Amino acid sequence: MCRLPQCVGNDPHEANRPRVRTCNPLTAVEFEAGYRFMVPVQTIATVPCELCENQNVEIVATQDRDASPLQVVLCPQCGLVWNDPRPSAEALAAYYREEYRQDYKGTLEPKPRHTLRAARVAVERCRQLRDNLPRGEAVLDLGAGGGEVVYVLRQLGFPASGIEPNAGYARFARERLQVPVTSGSWQEASVEPGSLSAVTLFHVMEHLDSPLQAMHLIRGWLRTGGLLWIEVPNVEAVCQAPSHRFHRAHLYNFNDATLGALGRQAGFEVVRTFTSADGGNVTAVLRKTGIPATTAPSLTGNANHIRGIIQAHTLLRHCLSAAPFIRPLRKLRQRVSETIGLLGQKTPKEILDRAIQEAFRSGVLSVVIDLSELAAAAI
Ligand SMILES: [Zn+2]
Repeated sequence: MCRLPQCVGNDPHEANRPRVRTCNPLTAVEFEAGYRFMVPVQTIATVPCELCENQNVEIVATQDRDASPLQVVLCPQCGLVWNDPRPSAEALAAYYREEYRQDYKGTLEPKPRHTLRAARVAVERCRQLRDNLPRGEAVLDLGAGGGEVVYVLRQLGFPASGIEPNAGYARFARERLQVPVTSGSWQEASVEPGSLSAVTLFHVMEHLDSPLQAMHLIRGWLRTGGLLWIEVPNVEAVCQAPSHRFHRAHLYNFNDATLGALGRQAGFEVVRTFTSADGGNVTAVLRKTGIPATTAPSLTGNANHIRGIIQAHTLLRHCLSAAPFIRPLRKLRQRVSETIGLLGQKTPKEILDRAIQEAFRSGVLSVVIDLSELAAAAI
């Protein structure tokens, strides 16, 4: 059970808000012709749209994945989706500092299985990043967790560091992996302006109460041309049950269009966006431009697109698709693979080193030959 403070009902303006509450966010309307379609319920958001500042929104869910009350709204102008109302910034900061990892993983520091799982994911993330960044460039991983991405990047020749709000996970990274991960929030981070070539946020942006403010701050840390690499859950995903789409701790729900638009508004250009094989995650690779942008890009049609996906993803359609069968099989295969992978491995470093070696052996990671180092060795 998630312990994030209740969102719904904390609004001081609750009594004055002209809104319609219903158990079903999408109301079925019968027409004389005999067919039925869904119309969204309107409300006034307590938090304006982060992209276009609109407050006239549509309710798309009233429960989170644990069936606890949670109001999730869609901006009909741009398609951004967020939890509204939501806890205060102070309550959120305390939650991520003290409780989030316990809620999510049931532990105050990663267990070996978590480290192995994170190591394999980190190897793939770092492979993608390495293909887009010359070796030796400074990288900061924001929301670094147990430091797995920082560790793999450093093994691949990047002077990487991390920031992690949870003290236990940050300590684990420093003490067990010997990598520089500081404990704190992104607002507290002390980074020299223009000192970084890349900042990565893997499943972090959806937790921030002001993604745009965070992007502006990160832009200041990056040199011109530096990369901002963001991976978040995809609001368009249909690989999970419809009731599992929204999460209390995911304050924002993005698709490639809203994630890219947010980046452009913060002064980045979109290098590319892509989704994971199962469509569950979306990644935006953004590059810092020389001139900060100030206006919101147009996202005509994006809200209709997202609303259509949410409405069409019914429990019946989900049960009739392959997703309910593929997902448990994939998890079972992962579980078996992890059990085998942990045999004989004792320390977190051994687990990470083995994951990197396996990636080189299987060709997931290729050896990069640095011509300048070869030339220096030949002299
Ligand atoms: Zn909007």
